[in-house]
Amino acid sequence: MPQSEFDIIAHYFESLTSEREDTELSIGDDCAILTCPPGHSVAVSIDTLVEGIHFFSDVSPKTLGHKSLAVGLSDLAAMGATPAWFTLALTLPEVDENWLSQFSLGLASLAKQYNMQLVGGDTTRGPLTISIQVHGHVRPEHALKRSGAQAGDLIYVTGTLGDAGAALKIKLKQLQHSLSASDILFLNQRLEQPTPRVEIGAKLLERANSAIDLSDGLLSDLGHIAEKSHLGAKVYSEKIPLSKALQQLDKNEAVQLALTAGDDYELCFTIPPNYEQLIEDELGKFCQQVGVMTETPGIEIIDDTGKPLLIQGKGYDHFPS
Ligand code: ADP
Ligand code: MG
Repeated sequence: MPQSEFDIIAHYFESLTSEREDTELSIGDDCAILTCPPGHSVAVSIDTLVEGIHFFSDVSPKTLGHKSLAVGLSDLAAMGATPAWFTLALTLPEVDENWLSQFSLGLASLAKQYNMQLVGGDTTRGPLTISIQVHGHVRPEHALKRSGAQAGDLIYVTGTLGDAGAALKIKLKQLQHSLSASDILFLNQRLEQPTPRVEIGAKLLERANSAIDLSDGLLSDLGHIAEKSHLGAKVYSEKIPLSKALQQLDKNEAVQLALTAGDDYELCFTIPPNYEQLIEDELGKFCQQVGVMTETPGIEIIDDTGKPLLIQGKGYDHFPS
């Protein structure tokens, strides 16, 4: 039965994932040593999930393992980077063997899907907190930055928006609805086991001018593209893709969720108008055009009558002023 910090690492994490050929040195030394393919640079991102803030205490540890890595994979996807390695800083209140084995199972299954190797980490005692740093590689000149959008670019989003936000509101009993059990299951899955859009990110290389992953809601995240690109955007609310479950909610409520609720981990990207046919042909099944980048600063939401829509609230902010 593993008890010490070193037992936990050896038992649960040392051979959690398969080995990659470009890993020179993995878990067990002071640093890992990693090699990028020629012409590529390392894309790095870190995310932390804190119990009670980012997840409920009663969430299944297996889905938590999935989500902890999925949020980082989503950042790599938004950059067009190829996932390669990750490190894990785990703070645990106690050694709970069932929790550890379920958590590592969820983590390993997503890691294997993307051929990612766990190459190091840190294990400490304290309130349950999971930090994962992901590393991928990308040709730096091709990376999908937020700052590359051009006026006239078409704005696309992948998947459907607002599902995770709806699941959260339902859990908090803040949403009036008459959804079926299977719809609620679907929404919960969107919240707890998001699908990182890695393959789509890779297809956008040399096509999209900019990209971001939707962790804080379209309004806020598209706002980052607009700001970094010194532009504005027009979004047509009718075009925002909504799941079957969300379409059953009050329409206004569903659109508000899609625009302002976080945790969807879909991608938002912009392309030059002459790539429209190419994107529709290759990715039309996975994404939807929702608007256009403009010279005028700010994000304008246009409703089905052509009038600007008023949106309450913005994306989630951990330190609201
Ligand atoms: P150091 O004290 O030099 O930082 P540690 O004793 O914390 O090293 O960790 C020993 C080895 O185990 C290191 O290679 C570290 O990267 C790895 N490690 C520690 N915790 C984890 C974890 N939760 N997951 C994966 N690797 C870990
Ligand atoms: Mg350490």
